[in-house]
Amino acid sequence: MDFAHYIGGEWVADTEITTNTSPANRDDVIGTYARGGAARVDEAVSAAKDALSGWAAASPQIRHDVLERAGALIVERKDELGRLLAREEGKTIAEATGETIRAAQVFKFFAGEALRNTGDAVASVRPGIDVMIEREPVGIVGLITPWNFPIAIPAWKLAPALAFGNTVVMKPAELTPGCAWELAKILDEAGCPAGVFNLVMGPGSKVGARIVEHEDIAAVSFTGSVATGRQVAIDCATRGKKVQLEMGGKNPMVVVDDADLDVAVGASLNGAFFSTGQRCTASSRLIVTAGIYDAFLDRLTAAAADLVVGDPLDAKTQIGPVVDQSQLDQNLGYLALAAEEGCDVRGGGLGNGNGFFMHPAIFAGASNQMRVSREEIFGPMASVIRVADYDEALAVANDTEFGLSSGICTTSLKLASHFRRHANAGMVMVNLPTAGVDYHVPFGGRKGSSYGPREQGSYAREFYTTVKTSYIAP
Ligand code: NAD
Repeated sequence: MDFAHYIGGEWVADTEITTNTSPANRDDVIGTYARGGAARVDEAVSAAKDALSGWAAASPQIRHDVLERAGALIVERKDELGRLLAREEGKTIAEATGETIRAAQVFKFFAGEALRNTGDAVASVRPGIDVMIEREPVGIVGLITPWNFPIAIPAWKLAPALAFGNTVVMKPAELTPGCAWELAKILDEAGCPAGVFNLVMGPGSKVGARIVEHEDIAAVSFTGSVATGRQVAIDCATRGKKVQLEMGGKNPMVVVDDADLDVAVGASLNGAFFSTGQRCTASSRLIVTAGIYDAFLDRLTAAAADLVVGDPLDAKTQIGPVVDQSQLDQNLGYLALAAEEGCDVRGGGLGNGNGFFMHPAIFAGASNQMRVSREEIFGPMASVIRVADYDEALAVANDTEFGLSSGICTTSLKLASHFRRHANAGMVMVNLPTAGVDYHVPFGGRKGSSYGPREQGSYAREFYTTVKTSYIAP
């Protein structure tokens, strides 16, 4: 089946297409998706411009109702959408269905936020004058999303953009246009007026780059790799656009001597390997104090070897394929590098089948200075780093160019509290995997991981609105 762009409320086909195949089975063709360029972005921006004044001025009730209906439609179709997500991205059907439900929750949350867009009334320092501070839409917002959360990330950008009265041009990752296309269909069915939401599919170098440079796009929210994100920030800054970036991670999970071993192994296994390690919040550095190191490593090695790698649509599968050949090649390169750098590499062999399957790998005896411990790998691999004590563990945890999520497993309230205060990260997890967050609270990091205002929860308003201060004399 052919899937078209969604521009100005119409389905717009293109002469060029991208064939979307499953990473679990290269013969499983999901569909052919329109592949646009700069001209399609220009059409979409023009539609978004025409729709802006009406949507910005629409009653919050109307915006609430569209988002609420979109959330309800996603819930109604969660099994079908979860299956599509598992097929096109490769995460397990349980993970994919969970992500789909998350997208619905996000739409419903921001339906409520549309009604809660409050301002302030302040007494002026000048007698008889009133001061009002209100939040207005930013304008046309460009959304650029990655492949690893193909329905949740579009949802958590789109829903607040629409809730606060902006119109949108969205570009999904080329590897996973299917879920974004379904969101366009759902918004159409939910009664989103023509031009308010526009979907343009195609390569980042053409579609993404045009979104960033188009003079009528006032703000860009980007999630993806550090290299692309930094360029997007520079290009936005030179054009005076508002920009928000969510990028990579090299998230530490500290395990100290007093940790509950079951909790520590469970959280590390989940954080490092679930979703095939393709999460910006994945635990890729397991930093373990000397007294528990051997027991932890033995248990983790055995548990990782037991993980079932295979078809994401099979309910027994725990680890699906990596997303494509180039990601698999990159992962295999890091496996070889870990051995070259002197790690004791455990696991990591290729899986069976007509897809990009690999077994989880542990880089035991790693140091924090090795490249495998410093660079984001984005696969089912984790360094295990031995440290003397908690103080060294904290120093190693913070010794990274990233700062997204930072975890500790301990039964000591004192250490947990100290870590929470001193971890240099946007999110801290105690006795929990570094990945796995709530949808109604802010998400984001520090240093090389994030730039600009936070996403999600009520904090999302900061990016998707702009402040107006009015002075009123009688
Ligand atoms: P990517 O940077 O290759 O692509 C991200 C998006 O940017 C895609 O839609 C792509 O087409 C587009 N793009 C590429 N070149 C562009 C350009 N010149 N101008 C504008 N847009 C362009 O990233 P990816 O491989 O799709 O995703 C994986 C990365 O995303 C990882 O680094 C991961 O850590 C990161 N990620 C971060 C978060 C977070 O919230 N921090 C969440 C998920 C993924």
